[in-house]
Amino acid sequence: MIAFNVPPYTGKEMEYIRECVENQKICGDGPYTKKCNEWIEDRTHTTKCLLTTSCTHATEMAALLAGIKEGDEVIMPSYTFVSTADAFVLRGATPVFVDIRPDTMNLDENLIEAAITDRTRAIVPVHYAGVSCEMDKIMELADRYHLTVIEDAAQGIMSSYKGKALGTFGEYGCFSFHETKNFSMGEGGALLIRDKENIEDAEIIREKGTNRSKYYRGQIDKYTWINYGSSYLPSDMNAAYLYAQLERAEEITAARMACWDRYYENLLPLAQAGRIELPVVPEGCVHNAHMFYIKTKDIEERTALIGCLKEHDILSVFHYIPLHTAPAGQKFGRFHGEDRYTTKESERLLRLPMFYRLTLEQVDYICRQVKGFYERYTNER
Ligand SMILES: *Cc1c(COP(=O)(O)O)cnc(C)c1O
Repeated sequence: MIAFNVPPYTGKEMEYIRECVENQKICGDGPYTKKCNEWIEDRTHTTKCLLTTSCTHATEMAALLAGIKEGDEVIMPSYTFVSTADAFVLRGATPVFVDIRPDTMNLDENLIEAAITDRTRAIVPVHYAGVSCEMDKIMELADRYHLTVIEDAAQGIMSSYKGKALGTFGEYGCFSFHETKNFSMGEGGALLIRDKENIEDAEIIREKGTNRSKYYRGQIDKYTWINYGSSYLPSDMNAAYLYAQLERAEEITAARMACWDRYYENLLPLAQAGRIELPVVPEGCVHNAHMFYIKTKDIEERTALIGCLKEHDILSVFHYIPLHTAPAGQKFGRFHGEDRYTTKESERLLRLPMFYRLTLEQVDYICRQVKGFYERYTNER
């Protein structure tokens, strides 16, 4: 059986976790958390990185820091994971969904302006599959209308737009280290903070509303409760697991990229014959091979292909059910403008297995099965 995802593992994880246990440093903000934060800061050139318990929590922190409140509107795609919207719904805001571009499945930058009202407070671009949104246009709009940009870069670590790391354009950027992402700590994430003046508030919100971070750095002699907050810091054991992968980030990314390129090469003839569509990576975008997807003609064809791959011991999956069609999306949000592509494209998209240690032979095998399916599928009709 070829799994759809296998959590990344490099071999050093247990050694690092053992070190935490033996040194009795298992709570948050220990040595490994610091190493991870510094690695991300160096790598992305962000001003500050704070490791969190999830990308969902990083987005919640960003919503709190941006002062999102009841009655505010936040522009985002409907084609995304629930957390993108949840973080703002928790603050009483309304997600305003805007249609996506069919080529990248990202928020259509040309439809944002029409969705802006006097209640709009933020734009949340989601960099789907680690391929960047059109950030020049989005940042220009945000500047002109004084909106906060919070990037859902859950899938975007190691990706860039015009040479700049994803997650570093907006005031806040959110990474995920869930086990399905390129680098993992089981459950975890990171908040990237662009502006120096927001660091202290972020540290306070992450530490239950206290200034404990300052206390740990020896800047004050006792800590106290000074604002609202929650507990958004992960155990150092989880950070130890993550660090084992960050150290090998180049190698992991290169291995994923080799699989991605092999899929693309193998399936190109099917795309040229007009049977499927392949992912598009626009000029200026460097992606991280987070996922490989194809688009079938319609949902029936996709269901048949999933079944065929399963018969050949290959697990493939689809997502997302557009948020505006879900019960909570209807209750809390609204779609602005026409749903030209969100629903239609989401019903055609199929993700093929992609993980560190997937072999090129496995990719070839999967592609042979996809090609075989299309040979037969024509004949059956
Ligand atoms: C994975 C993912 C999230 C959630 O990440 P968690 O770390 O599981 O909270 C949010 N948004 C997108 C686009 C994702 O892919």
